[in-house]
Amino acid sequence: MALNHNQSASPHVDAGYHLMELPTKVLIGEGVISKLGDFIKDSAGGGSVVVASGANVASKVRRAVEAALPTEPIWVEVAAADIGNVDRVMDSAAGARCIVGVGGGKSVDVGKLAAFNLHIPFYSVPTSASHDGISSPFASLKGLDRPYSIMAKPPLGILADIEVISSAPRRLLASGCGDLVSKLTAVKDWELAHRITGEYYGSYSASLALMSANTVLDHSRTIGSFDKGSVRELVEALISTGVAAGIAGSSRPCSGSEHLFSHYLDVLAPESGLHGEKCGIGTIMMAKLHRIDWRRVRFALKNVGAPVEASQIGIEDSMVVEALTKASTIRPDRYTILSKRRLSWKNAALLAKSTGVI
Ligand SMILES: [Zn+2]
Repeated sequence: MALNHNQSASPHVDAGYHLMELPTKVLIGEGVISKLGDFIKDSAGGGSVVVASGANVASKVRRAVEAALPTEPIWVEVAAADIGNVDRVMDSAAGARCIVGVGGGKSVDVGKLAAFNLHIPFYSVPTSASHDGISSPFASLKGLDRPYSIMAKPPLGILADIEVISSAPRRLLASGCGDLVSKLTAVKDWELAHRITGEYYGSYSASLALMSANTVLDHSRTIGSFDKGSVRELVEALISTGVAAGIAGSSRPCSGSEHLFSHYLDVLAPESGLHGEKCGIGTIMMAKLHRIDWRRVRFALKNVGAPVEASQIGIEDSMVVEALTKASTIRPDRYTILSKRRLSWKNAALLAKSTGVI
């Protein structure tokens, strides 16, 4: 079979070689936010520290962040994960020594891309664990020409304070579990693409991503308690999937047909459901298409309190069916089970009904 390396869609994966970009350090534990000043010392040099963060988060951890830094940082409020906010952070960060993204998802995505554009270091300080963007080289933003993540650079460092993250709403933590189980079908899609198109497949990064999915699939009851021990497991698993993407040089081990389904719903119903919630629901259905144990996925999601039915996140049945039939069109270069099966409206409805999603 002829190799078609263009299928990878990543500028870093090319014929015969690819670049691995990884975070250089991770500090994880209770109360580590007080060590932020030391943690970002590597980015020594002139200029100030710019902190990108949402309004709620700023009120929650502002004092702790300021106490940890030797000089007062410049705070930039991130209202949404879009290009307008990236531009605002970039304006404030001109001449800065680094950007620190403090928050759930938006601030990390916005800060990551702003730092990437300015060629300055970026540090990720997650205050929840709702998806794997806390460590990955990707930024997920609205207002781009495509509804999926773009390649930036992984954070230079990730500082994960388990005390802070444990106090995040359970819904966000359950959403993180949804993003983790999605690696199960993402890896299946990657294997499939490798067989059909000859696209590069890395079994090491695939195994690493699967290990993170299994953290939730094998221990959903324990993880779902969201005590400090299980939140630490969850955060370590999410960081590890970001690293898997870094090793793969593409989002392949972390994002397959279930992510395309989620991205399509982002377009149809932008305000409904969190990223990891939609990916988790997508994983149930894509697992069935791949003929693997979809009930195990559903069971684990229920155990952690993540939604398993579209109505739980305000998504209409017809949207689920439309997303199943059209999701592969938003990223034609990414071969998945949806490209292979090309579901009709009738078969998509059957799939969604038979898995209890609608
Ligand atoms: Zn994701």
